[in-house]
Amino acid sequence: MTLSARGLERFTTGHPWIYRSDVAQMPPSAGLYPVHDARGRVLGWAAVNPQSEITVRMLTRGMKPAGEALLLTHLERAIEHRRADSSIDGNAFRIVHSDADGLPGVTVDKYGDYLVVQQHSAALEPHLPALLDALEAEFRPLGILARFDGKSRSLEGLETGVFELRGTVPDWLEVIEGNVRYLVDPWRGQKTGAFLDQRENRAALKARAYGRALDVFSYHASFGLHLATVCDDVECIDASEPALERGRENAALNGFTNLSFTAGNAFDILRERERSGVKYQTISLDPPALAKAKRDLPAAYRAYKELNLRAMKLLEAGGILGTASCSFHVSEPDFYAMLRDSASDAGRSVRILERRAQSSDHPELLALPESRYLKYALLEIW
Ligand code: SAH
Repeated sequence: MTLSARGLERFTTGHPWIYRSDVAQMPPSAGLYPVHDARGRVLGWAAVNPQSEITVRMLTRGMKPAGEALLLTHLERAIEHRRADSSIDGNAFRIVHSDADGLPGVTVDKYGDYLVVQQHSAALEPHLPALLDALEAEFRPLGILARFDGKSRSLEGLETGVFELRGTVPDWLEVIEGNVRYLVDPWRGQKTGAFLDQRENRAALKARAYGRALDVFSYHASFGLHLATVCDDVECIDASEPALERGRENAALNGFTNLSFTAGNAFDILRERERSGVKYQTISLDPPALAKAKRDLPAAYRAYKELNLRAMKLLEAGGILGTASCSFHVSEPDFYAMLRDSASDAGRSVRILERRAQSSDHPELLALPESRYLKYALLEIW
């Protein structure tokens, strides 16, 4: 396949994605192909899908031919990185993080003895069995689940569904994170069952937390469980009753009696709490992506600001706020500007304790800003 002059410019910036409009000559079908410039020089090899808007996803730069062996080398490297990563405190973590691990479209999460896979690339689909063989040889999992639901696979023209690829996978998986345990729902839960990208932030917030705490957008009490080990009491708030039900089970699993659960809209509940005059020492705010597209930015900015403003008002002097945005479209500078506006409207002065991002098992490519999506600030409110 051959890039247009604009495609070549894009390639030169180092960004691994090249759009359909920047391809001069397309291969007949999805697969691994050499990428040429207009003079026929090989620039590198890529996973290419002519049907996809992001047509080219670079696997390697330079002449070195790419095939299944290169994919397996990238998988080996991904596994080595996780093995060498002493910051992973637990048995649930990400083994493969798509482009940032040189396997575009592929995600592999490990939950104890089980693996959960997502695969969104028609070019890599024929190589999935080889990747699964390698994962089996390395980890000897009891089962590997395909989370092939969601629309990314149908956009690539691939079959969809949730099914076992190898062995059997139970309805519930119990995993360890730091000094808490929690249940994961790999078949129906969000993402592959848990938000592993926040693992390190949960530990970081716990290290500062104290007093009376709120876990807002708690899902199955992920932050809440950690907070319960150091705080007097923790109230988990989420719109999803099934997620909270699992939160209750998770509390019981750990023998924690200082967690409570409230189902509802977090915006309304924070407003009510403010009206009631109750105060907290620790608040975790982890909303879903409020800006799914660029055009959502103004509304998302207002929503993030409302949440953070209310949380700051609810905190006593010296209180701790752990606050996140997982919207890629909200840049890091925008996120901190939003926090500044929130603090100003709340009339509080705020010290930044830590500027954080996603966990290290969700690596970031320098040239792929899309791979740094999670912003997380640990703040002290005065
Ligand atoms: N903190 C969690 C992840 C949260 S994901 C963790 O670390 O695992 C976002 C959560 O927000 C989801 O559980 C979703 O059910 C919930 N949610 C979405 N909109 C909401 C709203 N308006 N009010 C309360 N919860 C909401």
